[in-house]
Amino acid sequence: MRPLVPVAASAAFLAWAVRGRSAGVFGRSYWRGSRRRPSIALTFDDGPSEATPQVLEILARHRVPATFFQCGANVDRLPALAREVRAAGHEIGNHSYSHPLLCFRSPGFIEDELRRAQDAIARHTGAGPAWFRAPFGVRWFGLGRAQRRLGLTAVMWTVIGYDWNRKADEVAARISDRARNGAILCLHDGRELRVKPDVGVTVEAVRRLVPLLLERGFQFETVSRLLCPTT
Ligand SMILES: [Zn+2]
Repeated sequence: MRPLVPVAASAAFLAWAVRGRSAGVFGRSYWRGSRRRPSIALTFDDGPSEATPQVLEILARHRVPATFFQCGANVDRLPALAREVRAAGHEIGNHSYSHPLLCFRSPGFIEDELRRAQDAIARHTGAGPAWFRAPFGVRWFGLGRAQRRLGLTAVMWTVIGYDWNRKADEVAARISDRARNGAILCLHDGRELRVKPDVGVTVEAVRRLVPLLLERGFQFETVSRLLCPTT
């Protein structure tokens, strides 16, 4: 029976290392900015998708920037939308090429996923990302090295909206309740690699949240600005 405790403990440790937003086992991840400034970063994963313009329209109406963690395969499929995101002044991050779970994958596979996304984004928008968000928030052996080789820094989130399986008012309430100085808020303008995904919940949540958070005195910043306010 003796090995049970260490085995259970190491399984729990591994689970935390893989999924924990503040775990640095597979490379350091940022999950919030300074609590001293009333700034927040709105981030969108899994795009671009056919619904991305609806999100861009809301952000433009309120003149707020955001950060879009795009999948390389979606950028190759919808390059004009990736360019539109950049042209509107938003930041683009790397969210892997094909949105795989990175656990139990080889370091070569992981680096290839990150590099192909980096190349697709740079080719279509003119600049390679500085930030990486792991698909499903899952990190694994070899990810830290791949990030270093590609000049990427990992970003998780302070609050995730569960916008893929909850109602818009629940998503908006969840984020609004947890928004604090320095918070990184995670929503989705796509659904992994799906074509024409239904992201109506996300769009509706963003429509409600942006004016609400502005009214509370928060200022929206890109991830770069939130985490490196002097640059
Ligand atoms: Zn994702």
